[in-house]
Amino acid sequence: MPRYESVCNLHMHTPYSDGEWYHAQIAEAALRAGLDVILVTDHNVWVKGPERYYEKDGRRALVLVGEEVHDQTRDPQKNHLLVYGADCELARYAPQPQALVDAAREKGGLTFLAHPHDPEAPLFHEPALEWVNWEVTGFTGLELWNYMTEFKSLLTSRANAVRYAFNPQQGIRGPFPQTLAKWDELTAQGRRVVAVGNADAHGTEYQMGGLKRVIFPYEFLFRAVNTHILTGTPLTGAVEADKRLVLGALASGHCFVGYDYPAPTKGFKFGANFEKGAAVMGDEVVNKSGVTLQIAAPGKPALLRLICDGQEVKSWENQSHALYIVPERQAGVFRVEVHLHYQGQVRGWIYSNPIYVRP
Ligand SMILES: [Zn+2]
Ligand SMILES: [Zn+2]
Repeated sequence: MPRYESVCNLHMHTPYSDGEWYHAQIAEAALRAGLDVILVTDHNVWVKGPERYYEKDGRRALVLVGEEVHDQTRDPQKNHLLVYGADCELARYAPQPQALVDAAREKGGLTFLAHPHDPEAPLFHEPALEWVNWEVTGFTGLELWNYMTEFKSLLTSRANAVRYAFNPQQGIRGPFPQTLAKWDELTAQGRRVVAVGNADAHGTEYQMGGLKRVIFPYEFLFRAVNTHILTGTPLTGAVEADKRLVLGALASGHCFVGYDYPAPTKGFKFGANFEKGAAVMGDEVVNKSGVTLQIAAPGKPALLRLICDGQEVKSWENQSHALYIVPERQAGVFRVEVHLHYQGQVRGWIYSNPIYVRP
């Protein structure tokens, strides 16, 4: 049973593309923020070499390298694809998203649609960079929640830009409803689509009212939206073996998206018990004689919502544990959202991957 949790961030940039810090410096930020794994994804360049463990004060963080690929000749430059574990340069496939997904898979890589919905911010000359080629199949999953894309969606006026730059937690609320709906639509077609949540950190300095500052340092973002993976054995400190564990957990959907800023999401559980044994999020179970779904939220009570095929089937207010029995033979794609009261609003906190209950 995958039950060892590691906290990962799987989308960030260095000076190899448009980020500010190199791998070693970002690794130190990850260590300070308490992350176990970071996966660096520069635009259209796979950087060979920096994969290793970094250690400080008795903690270690694994640095892995993937790539964020998109067609730079396309205008605007939509269709960003995160590639993990292919371990080769794939940018030449960018003009054909399906060929890119297929090539990554042939190399043993995983593919995630980056910021699949991404509104423009015309006041700041930021174009919309969403995914458009939805006919593509065979990708591993999608980036359900991208912190910097959500921030960009808040830039609807100069006043809002300043307000949310200094107090982003007032604005950050959760994945876009259209991304959740698209994900549910894809999984309802019988496809397995793994959700991840990431920073998209760049460490860029902005001019704000006369002073230059980094609005979103890497470390700040690593304390916000992360992907928590579950593995069958703990990470050991051996780079290649741990890399296989991390990629295996992502491929299987043994992970959830946690917004760790309001409260740590570590310890969240969503599992199933059925005739043949037990399963966790990401797994498929065959429902012959009923399936018991179990939800456990860490720490304080919150609003638990159980979603089946895009519809809420039950919710529990002010709870940290819940049980739900799926009647025998009934099928559906079940996933959990946990919402939290924070800064005057109910906000998204945890998004599980689905348990696929098959007839
Ligand atoms: Zn991107
Ligand atoms: Zn990016």
